Amino acid sequence: MNNRSRKVVLVGTGFVGMSYAYAMLNQNACDELVLIDVDRQKAEGEAMDLNHGLAFSGSHMKIYAGSYEDCKDADIVAISAGVSQKPGESRLDLLQRNTVVFNSIIKPVISSGFSGIFLVATNPVDIMAHITKHLSGFERRRVIGTGTTLDTARLRYLLGDYFKVDPRNVHAYVMGEHGDSEFVPWSQALIATKPVLQMCAESCGSYTCGQMDVISSEVKNAAQKIIAAKKATYYGIGMAMTRITKAILGNENSVLTVSAMLDGEYDRKGIYAGVPSIVNRNGADSIITLALTQEEKKQFHHSCDLLDEIYRGINFENL
Ligand code: NAD
Repeated sequence: MNNRSRKVVLVGTGFVGMSYAYAMLNQNACDELVLIDVDRQKAEGEAMDLNHGLAFSGSHMKIYAGSYEDCKDADIVAISAGVSQKPGESRLDLLQRNTVVFNSIIKPVISSGFSGIFLVATNPVDIMAHITKHLSGFERRRVIGTGTTLDTARLRYLLGDYFKVDPRNVHAYVMGEHGDSEFVPWSQALIATKPVLQMCAESCGSYTCGQMDVISSEVKNAAQKIIAAKKATYYGIGMAMTRITKAILGNENSVLTVSAMLDGEYDRKGIYAGVPSIVNRNGADSIITLALTQEEKKQFHHSCDLLDEIYRGINFENL
């Protein structure tokens, strides 16, 4: 029996962080959960609130507000800390401010002796994961972003609804940037083992390829739609983070479209993007190279080019 305690440190106890913490508690996904925030009082209040739910959860999780020293023996440091865009501020200026925030987090995490896996959710997530890799000096497998895991879950839900199939039997991915340039490689989308495009072609009009475009757009615009309705998105991403955490802690070898650093896969190097990856105790242990069509390859390269350009715009001096 494995008696090893599963310890997770969460940095950033805002909407996303606490949705993650709440899902972790309800799914009994770790044994020790440490909450850190620049607003210490908030972290303390959140820990109290969650602890008062313990009696109803069937979990014996140890939950407390801690400090960076607690990262020393943690398996995962999950980061959902960040500052939000000021009126009139450009995306790059916001990114620069979040780079400063990440520097103030990664430095003490590393000083603690942390040797686990970083899981980043802060947006723009592919870039923030890349920044974490740069600032930590960790090997690429041990720094991952949530990438397009949530977008992929949205895609599976919508396809399942359209084809009246359990989303767990839908095998399809959203790839690339978690953002405007993300895309669905439809040539790789399957219901059970049958290609979705073939299902459309053989259905005599019951299912259409045109509807696949509608579904891709719905996936891409989902976050904006939720933000317009309720100002922010957090439950879905909290659950996606929990799913990735369980894949790591359980050494599951699960295929998830996390943001991982490419090292020659899809002919790209040194860029973080959402790609189907085998996730286990090593983090994003390997990337699966799908047989994309020429058009899909173009879409992937376009997304990578944009991410590369944004990352190169960051100034790491005088942090
Ligand atoms: P929020 O403002 O509610 O929470 C941010 C938290 O970070 C706050 O509690 C704040 O005090 C803390 N923080 C700020 N600076 C800090 C520092 N230096 N050290 C420690 N903590 C610090 O925001 P939110 O709604 O929880 O969103 C958090 C991030 O998650 C945003 O970047 C958002 O865009 C992103 N997000 C990502 C996805 C995804 O799919 N990856 C989905 C939704 C939101």
